[in-house]
This record gives sequence, C-alpha cells and structure tokens, in this order.
Amino acid sequence: MPQLIELGRLTSQAQPSTLRVPEMEKGVGCDFSSYLLVPDTSLDERIGAAVQKLGSDLVILGHHYQRDEVIRFARFRGDSLKLAQQAAECDAKYIVFCGVHFMAESADVLRRLGQVVILPDLNAGCSMADMAEIGQVETCWAELEAVGGLDVVPVTYMNSTAAIKAFTGLHGGSVVTSSNAARVLQWAFTEGQRVLFLPDEHLGRNTAYSMGIPLDEMIVWDPEQELGGNTELSIRRAKMILWKGYCSVHQRFLPEHVDRVRAEHPGMRVIVHPECRFEVVQKADDTGSTEGILKKITAAPPGSSWAVGTEVHLVNRLAKTLTDRTVISLDPHVCVCTTMFRITPQHLLWTLDNLLEGTVVNRISVPENERRWARVALDRMLQLG
Ligand code: SF4
Repeated sequence: MPQLIELGRLTSQAQPSTLRVPEMEKGVGCDFSSYLLVPDTSLDERIGAAVQKLGSDLVILGHHYQRDEVIRFARFRGDSLKLAQQAAECDAKYIVFCGVHFMAESADVLRRLGQVVILPDLNAGCSMADMAEIGQVETCWAELEAVGGLDVVPVTYMNSTAAIKAFTGLHGGSVVTSSNAARVLQWAFTEGQRVLFLPDEHLGRNTAYSMGIPLDEMIVWDPEQELGGNTELSIRRAKMILWKGYCSVHQRFLPEHVDRVRAEHPGMRVIVHPECRFEVVQKADDTGSTEGILKKITAAPPGSSWAVGTEVHLVNRLAKTLTDRTVISLDPHVCVCTTMFRITPQHLLWTLDNLLEGTVVNRISVPENERRWARVALDRMLQLG
C-alpha cells in the first residue's frame, strides 16, 4: 500500500503537477468493422465459446448500466469500485471492463502486476468525468491558492478520470463513491476548512446538505469563468466548492416527474440516485447509489411499488427480475447512458477473438505517476471504510 503523504494543501507549498492524460493502446488485431456483419443469432454462441476457451485467464466485468446482451457474459456485475476490486482479487490476466473509460482506468489503478485492462470500445466515455479536465482543475487550484488561507481539501467522485483522482491524491484528498460520500466528507472537514468537490455538483450538494451544511455555504465553480464565477468573499464564506459537472443521465430527472408519479401512482415509493438534482432528491422518498437502489428494492416486500430515478437498463432489469413488485422508471421517456450503450456484443466478441489470437486491443494503461497518486486517493477512501 502506498505511503500516505500529505502534500500540496493550500496552506502549504503546492506540488508541481506532472500528471499526463492516460495512454490508450489500440491493438492491431483483426479489424472490428467485419464484426458489424456478424449475425446477431451467432453472437451469443461465439462469445460463449471464446469465454470458455480463455477460461480463468479472462474476467469480464459488467456495470449495472450495461445492456442485457453484454452483461449476461459478465463474471461480476456491480458498480465501478466493486468491479475493479473483484478483478484485482481474481486470478485472471485479462480484465475486460464492460463499462466506461474512467471505470477501466480505476481497474488499471487497482489491478495486480501482470493484469491487463481492456475497454471493448474506446469511445465509451462518461460525460460527467469529461467535465473536469486536469488543466481546468489545476487552474482552479491555483486561483484558490491565490485567494490565500483557504485550507481546501480536494475530494473527487469515483466517476472522474485517473488524472483527477491523482490530483486529489497528490493534494491530500480522497475519492468518494455515492455510498460513502458523507463519511469521506466528514473526514475531509477534519482535514481542512472547505472542500473542493469534483466533478458532480449534485452529489456534492445532496451529500453536504444531508450532513447539515446549508445551501448558502455552497458555491458552484464554473471552470469557464474567472474564480469559477465567484467573488473572493463568497469563496471565503463557502464550505463546499462544487465543480460545475453533472451526469447527463441523472440530470434528466425533474421534480415534475416525482409529482406525476405521486398523482398517477398513489403509494408508489420514489427512489433516486444522488447524482440527481437537489430538487428531485428533496422530493423523493429515498436516495441510493446504484447498489443501494438494487439492495433496497430487492429487500422490499412483494407487492411494493417503486419509481426509480437511475439508468434505465438497471430499472428494466429490476422490473424483469422482481416480478412480484412494480418497478418503473421515474421518467417515462428512456433515460439511457448512451456511452455505456456503446459496448455491444460485437465489441465484446472482437475483443475476445483478438485475445484468442494473442493480441490485446483497446488496452487502458494509466501512466505510472498518475497511477501511484490515484491509488493514494483511492486508498485514503478505502481506509475510511
Ligand atoms: S450514467 Fe452518467 S455518470 Fe454514469 S457513466 Fe453514464 S454519463 Fe457517466
């Protein structure tokens, strides 16, 4: 486990950043375009055969938001942290992550020596993670430092790039997940006077508010504006500095959707992800991470009914599996994560066929210095339990 060294807090000398954009390797194996012609009827059989041939050398990870045709091949299903940990604990040499780019990066940060992480489609990104670029965050940090005497602890959501996690580790901060955000924030406020929360303003606001921090002690940092669009005075008054970022899927849920469910389905419980807007979370009966939503509805009594504010693949899977409960999407229009949806069975088969030929395609490889500091930020979170 890396040594935890406190560096670069705003009250001390900031460390020069040598972080780089993660390297992505594209393989030179068989051409993907020919896989677009593979008939749907033979995909399952061919993927199944490849999985069997690769045996224990292979682990396929499936995030809960993946489509059914892909997730059915996953050895492990879950959220991004759990999956990355499970992959690191197993014997597999090849970790095929059916998720998005930052998830594969986290798996690469946590992997064991000799393991290789693969993302079946390199275009599977995350709009939220992309909203906090390392250069913007470094500029923000320098501006906060210029204000002086702020004593800020950076905290980043799991849904951020490895570069942002590394920045956080380097500057004495931690990663959070949607399940442990309050616990990590509590720790952060013992370490400093205020928190720079990256990159999801909604998770930051919802969590801080649930801990008793009033809204007027929170400001939003817009990276497109000087001082994030704030004044020195407002920054000094703030306990939470919320990066202006959001999830394009969860931000679609609106208070009106809750009102409609209340009117049309009396007695139905509304549960939403904390990446949803503050107004939606306030109107809901419950909030929960993806795993939290799953556990809550699975443990609910037969006959109960739920409107769920999260990605539609998970909602539909719950509805299909728990047939003695009513489970619907909070938004009647489809709320799909389009980047997760980029991973198709064709991409999975192409990846596996290349592995059978001894070629690694779409390897995700986080540069060593970035890996080290991202690991520090992740370990700080894991030590908090
Ligand atoms: S659901 Fe939102 S946060 Fe999750 S991968 Fe998709 S865009 Fe990113």
